[in-house]
Amino acid sequence: MNIEVLRIGQRILRDDRVTTHVALVARAFGASKIYMNEVNPEIKETINKINNTWGGKFEIAFISNWKNVIKSKKNTTKIIHLTMYGENINEIDKNIQKEKDILIIVGAEKVPREIYEHADYNISVGNQPHSEISALAILLDRIQNGTQFGKKFENSKRVIIPSKNGKNVI
Ligand code: SAM
Repeated sequence: MNIEVLRIGQRILRDDRVTTHVALVARAFGASKIYMNEVNPEIKETINKINNTWGGKFEIAFISNWKNVIKSKKNTTKIIHLTMYGENINEIDKNIQKEKDILIIVGAEKVPREIYEHADYNISVGNQPHSEISALAILLDRIQNGTQFGKKFENSKRVIIPSKNGKNVI
């Protein structure tokens, strides 16, 4: 399964830390690419440094119009929108596991109504408001059932050897 993420909008007050964390979660939890708008260019540098040190080919694309991303994917990819108003993730996660290519949309603020209509699935991770970082992490884990943590990140400068009591990095 190929998984991509689209993050729509950023609060007027820049929310760079949350945006960076959405990208870090997407990368670490097995997505191949993130599309973002209204973003500080330094975020790309941060993610590229992470790729350089820790490996993998995670891509970050800055976009000017999210509608074009959705349009370009519509016929080949299932669109999943994370929203607290959506169907309960517990009812729908098994169906999503069967999909081939997916684009996960997360918001940063109120999401335009059109997104709900474009989505093949509107999914809630509980029906309480929380965060795009947590919603994305949980969905990615449910879809891949933990297998994302066994994936190798190729060409890394550093690899962590999991350890019971300390840091073991080679
Ligand atoms: N009130 C906003 C709205 O109308 O969407 C909530 C914005 S929330 C700070 C930012 C993003 O986090 C949302 O666009 C959604 O993608 C995600 N999110 C927050 N709570 C969620 C939940 N319970 N289930 C799924 N996604 C959630």
